Amino acid sequence: MDRRGITKLGNRGLILFLLALSLVACKNNEETNLDESFQDIAVVTPDVYEFGFNLNDYVVKRDTIRKGDSFGLILEKNKIDYTKIFNIAQKAKDTFDIRKLQVGKPYTLLCSKDSLEIPRCFIYQPNIEEYVVVNFQDSIHAYTSRKPIKYVERVATGVVTTNISNAFVDQGLSVLLAYKMADEIYAWTIDFNRLQKGDRFKVIYTDKYIDDTIYAGIQNVKAAYMEYNKEPFYAFKFETDSVRKFTDFFNEEAKNLRRAFLKAPVQFSRISSRYNLNRRIAYYGFALRPHKGTDFAAAIGTPIMATANGTVIESQYKGGNGNYVKIRHNGTYETQYLHMQKRKVKVGQFVKQGDVIGWVGMTGNTGGPHVCYRFWKNKKQVDPLKEKLPESEPISENLKAKYFEFIKPIKAKLDSIPVKEEKEKETIQNNLISQVK
Ligand SMILES: [Zn+2]
Repeated sequence: MDRRGITKLGNRGLILFLLALSLVACKNNEETNLDESFQDIAVVTPDVYEFGFNLNDYVVKRDTIRKGDSFGLILEKNKIDYTKIFNIAQKAKDTFDIRKLQVGKPYTLLCSKDSLEIPRCFIYQPNIEEYVVVNFQDSIHAYTSRKPIKYVERVATGVVTTNISNAFVDQGLSVLLAYKMADEIYAWTIDFNRLQKGDRFKVIYTDKYIDDTIYAGIQNVKAAYMEYNKEPFYAFKFETDSVRKFTDFFNEEAKNLRRAFLKAPVQFSRISSRYNLNRRIAYYGFALRPHKGTDFAAAIGTPIMATANGTVIESQYKGGNGNYVKIRHNGTYETQYLHMQKRKVKVGQFVKQGDVIGWVGMTGNTGGPHVCYRFWKNKKQVDPLKEKLPESEPISENLKAKYFEFIKPIKAKLDSIPVKEEKEKETIQNNLISQVK
């Protein structure tokens, strides 16, 4: 617990504290012999804190775990005898399993600042946030600690001139943020391929930093606003289940932005052919061959997912369809997935949204690996990309009041952000919201 306290204080706090101490010391020195104080100044090196240690107190040796390395071998190479190594390993084992060193992970040895340079501490970093300290300078003890993590809330705005990615990149923003807007938040409400010049966005998000300086990516999008075709689209992230940590994006009227159906039955796919009742094919002499499905091209073997919960009503090999599965979701909707390499589900089986029901193949009548996704509404095939699909789980009635309270200040903040027009070069507003751990 103490250690946490120190980490929380942060290196800066400690450095300031020590600086204050050294200033007091200097003042005392002024009253004494001038030569002595000069000598003092000459040996002072700035304190560098890492892992809760003043690195200036040690000879610091850094390396990464190499193939064939072991905890024992590293210490042995650094002049620690086997009995002591055994002892250290025994005492540290409750905190840290020395056999779990991974090749390529960094470690640091803090060694005595003398000619022998005997290791006093072994520090291992299994990931960028955590470090394990095995301290054996006095009594042997080991502990795992975390580098301080800082979240910085940021606000970004922009106007679309060509496409959404450019609109973000032009502002020096991460493309990842553009993807989050297009594929996660507004995937069901706004067709980002049809954005128009002048559409605008605002977004409130948090960036994560480790140890104050290491940028660890976008942590979270808190809220967003899109002006699409002169119409406002708000999105607020809200936790609907605090136990299971379920969150979703809802609009200002508490409507879920996610739909009951996934946008695509395969991930990382590309639409190779859209639903088109007027399709004509050269191969058939430009005869009318309506395409009542949406083709998603993906590599053979790519898992195909049920786009919504439902019951399998057909699973078979049949003619041009090849291996296919059909699911009934409710009285209104049914979906079908064609040309599978292999089917994974049987008739009568209940499947949940995202469950794998088969794998992409090219069975039946097809020129390349893809899944032909067919979508029925009231027994008629329609274009799912143009359908107003049913909302995913709404906010429960008893949470609604809480939701409206929750979004009030966030919406006010969104509304107050001036949209940065193309030419303006003002810097992004930074706003430190919290310092955790
Ligand atoms: Zn098709």
